[in-house]
Amino acid sequence: MKSVSILGATGSIGKSTLDLVQRQPDAFKVEALTAQSNVAELAAAAIAVGAQQAVIGDERLYAELKDALSGTCIGVAAGRDALIAAAASGADWTMAAIVGCAGLEPVMAAIEQGGTVALANKEALVSAGDVLMLAVAEKGTALLPVDSEHNAIFQCFEDRNAAYVRRVILTASGGPFRTMAATDLVNVTPAQAVRHPNWSMGAKISVDSATLMNKGLELIEAYHLFPVNADQLDVIVHPQSVIHSMVEYQDGSVLAQLGSPDMRTPIAHCLAFPDRMHAPVARLNFAQIGQLGFEDPDMDRFPCLRLAKNALAAGGARPAILNAANEIAVAGFLGGQIGFMSIPAVVESVLEQYDAPAPSTIRDVLDIDEEARRLAGLKMEAVAA
Ligand code: NDP
Repeated sequence: MKSVSILGATGSIGKSTLDLVQRQPDAFKVEALTAQSNVAELAAAAIAVGAQQAVIGDERLYAELKDALSGTCIGVAAGRDALIAAAASGADWTMAAIVGCAGLEPVMAAIEQGGTVALANKEALVSAGDVLMLAVAEKGTALLPVDSEHNAIFQCFEDRNAAYVRRVILTASGGPFRTMAATDLVNVTPAQAVRHPNWSMGAKISVDSATLMNKGLELIEAYHLFPVNADQLDVIVHPQSVIHSMVEYQDGSVLAQLGSPDMRTPIAHCLAFPDRMHAPVARLNFAQIGQLGFEDPDMDRFPCLRLAKNALAAGGARPAILNAANEIAVAGFLGGQIGFMSIPAVVESVLEQYDAPAPSTIRDVLDIDEEARRLAGLKMEAVAA
């Protein structure tokens, strides 16, 4: 039996993971589940899977969670420190599915305890790639990519032939505004932006998909996960989201991983790795799909991808600054404070104003993150005024 902890259990990825775990009660036992504020769903999930402990990040909600779990044997804890401790709860396998840089310390705690960490929380790797990957190497942790593109690359990348990899090609759906004119993009609403054509995801990553920042974050993520240079990473828009990414070798072979756009496939791959397990996902019907399309991304209409590429090329603190500014801008857009095209404007402005030495510790990353958030907040106020 594999013991499992799920950080961000009430989110889109967390719930997909719970779904798979619940279907195989003989294969998995649940150690810790965490959430930030959604007490009702956290408690219900903890009861459903018989978790050892449930941890809520917002410490003011301790009594509410305790109450919801009264009469059970499930341990209850609350607060940031408890959440970080839960990430190192001794589980064999930890799903890191907190959204944003808020997941960085828990991810680091999970990596430091060793075992296997399934990483969905891309913002942690974008912000602190070098620091996290050094810890992965030092602790011998198995870091498995959950993001569908990186999971696809992981399945196609032959480590022993890394020297023969010519290119890694990340596919992008293009998001809900792929064909929209630049003049109309300024008017899109949060409700339109979170309605992704192919994937059902949390609000933040849905907006990132709509701006193509998600693909930019994924380029940075891929750079840290695989032994390639930044200039070996490419993006191709593939609106059907059937091919999840590809690896091209010097002999001309291109290996691709295909599947329905359902995160339970890459999560199942990580849960069972190095074996396989059943996942209740729709099978591909190629005749029904008919054709697969490809086009180059448009970095004029979607400047976030360009900003992320530049941050990757520059390295150092740039990716952490990019990520923090983007988190604030996306929250501002979702909250109705700024328009859709102000997201890249806010990010670009913070990148122009601020730089810092390359971070070498998590503390350094958190300091950079904090300053970039402060500047993004100021820029948003100016934009909104
Ligand atoms: P959701 O918004 O659906 O869920 C986020 C989870 O994180 C919730 O459990 C939430 O708890 C918790 N959380 C939010 N803020 C904090 C905080 N400050 N401290 C601790 N926990 C917090 O996100 P997704 O599941 O969509 O995405 C999670 C991560 O996975 C992201 O990094 C995303 O980029 C990545 N990812 C997601 C994919 C998807 O299909 N959804 C695909 C690939 C990657 P609460 O509910 O209580 O707020």
